[in-house]
Amino acid sequence: MTHSNDLFERALKIIPGGVNSPVRAFRSVGGTPFFTKRAEGATLFTADDQALVDFVCTWGPSIHGHNDPTIKAAISKALDSGTSFGTPNPYEVEMAELLVAMVPSVEKVRMVNSGTEATMSAIRLARGHTGRTKIIKFAGCYHGHVDSLLVQAGSGALTLGNPDSAGIPPSFAAETIVLPYNDSDALTAAFERYGDELAAVIVEPFPANVGLIFPFEGYLQHMRHLCTQFGTILIFDEVMTGFRVAPGGVQEKTGITPDLTALGKIIGGGLPVGAFGGKAEIMDSIAPLGPVYQAGTLSGNPLAMAAGIAALEKLNSENPYPRLESFGQQIRDALLGAAEEKGLPLQVPQTGSMFSLYFSEEVVTNYDQAIATKTECFKSIFHQALENGVYLPPSPFETCFISSAHEGNAINMACDVLSKAIKNL
Ligand code: PMP
Repeated sequence: MTHSNDLFERALKIIPGGVNSPVRAFRSVGGTPFFTKRAEGATLFTADDQALVDFVCTWGPSIHGHNDPTIKAAISKALDSGTSFGTPNPYEVEMAELLVAMVPSVEKVRMVNSGTEATMSAIRLARGHTGRTKIIKFAGCYHGHVDSLLVQAGSGALTLGNPDSAGIPPSFAAETIVLPYNDSDALTAAFERYGDELAAVIVEPFPANVGLIFPFEGYLQHMRHLCTQFGTILIFDEVMTGFRVAPGGVQEKTGITPDLTALGKIIGGGLPVGAFGGKAEIMDSIAPLGPVYQAGTLSGNPLAMAAGIAALEKLNSENPYPRLESFGQQIRDALLGAAEEKGLPLQVPQTGSMFSLYFSEEVVTNYDQAIATKTECFKSIFHQALENGVYLPPSPFETCFISSAHEGNAINMACDVLSKAIKNL
């Protein structure tokens, strides 16, 4: 078997940066990425035969653990009938019925192939449906690599954004207004100034791409209220939180219903899937019913649908949420206990099977506070953990995920390794 370093050297010659998605390159933590040759339950097995307890969980999807036998069997069964038909297939109907039953805002849904496609299509739909062009997003919220969403915060509440990436015309970015998360006054001011031009507000209701941040009491209600008042479409990006914090995502947990929802990750059971859905009246603006064009050769692919259906049905039949919450709390308590012993200020925001680490005195409530935290400590913990068999996301600003397969040894061992890493800082 070829080792990780050899594979990476080969990859560097022919894949930009050696990776097919940038954060995998370890640039935020330093070092060389490992290659995974197999994954089972809570564990990744590297090309160098190291076993790692995995807290990335393929960046969210593997809530039941890797190589889950039920999902595997569903893919296998679907495979017997063919890989893609280019016509409607029965799995698509079953998947749509499941999503409508599980996610409160979703009356109709369209399948796509990634979270990026889901947010991109939801934004186009919001613009097409309202006939308006401007959108609001929040600093630190990531919605995939969509042109008009790869725009970060200026410091002022009403600054028009500058693009975050080369290749995005400033005129696209100028349609995006970036606001600080958790700032109700900034939101009110933006609506007062731009209300009639605003097609959509898109938000990760629990931002999870800048560490993990929770909304202030009343903040999401205020957002809902302003959107309703101004006829602006509220889009919850629940690609990360959907089926993760509750079967129906943050909207189920908080009781706040958006107009549209972007979904991904868990609904593909580890295969490439996304979806966007919401009010029937809005969804009916999509082709072939309405004027908003959206399409996909492989959308609703039978293998991906079979995997996703198996993942969702398993959530419904097993209800892993109480167990996942207890694993999350166990990790949080271990990390906070170690930090207290060491005399280090640490915040561990956690909900269910999601958590992150901020080395900070204060609770982090927005992007500016998040980027002001001490990321050097995280880098040290990341590398110590990796040496001792625990894989955290290779960036201080990615959320850690737990699966139901972490039960027992994996969680206990990780608590031990991470506590020691904190004490060694
Ligand atoms: N939205 C959110 C909240 C995400 O976390 C991500 C990816 N991490 C995306 C959208 C984009 O999804 P994908 O990588 O599948 O395009």
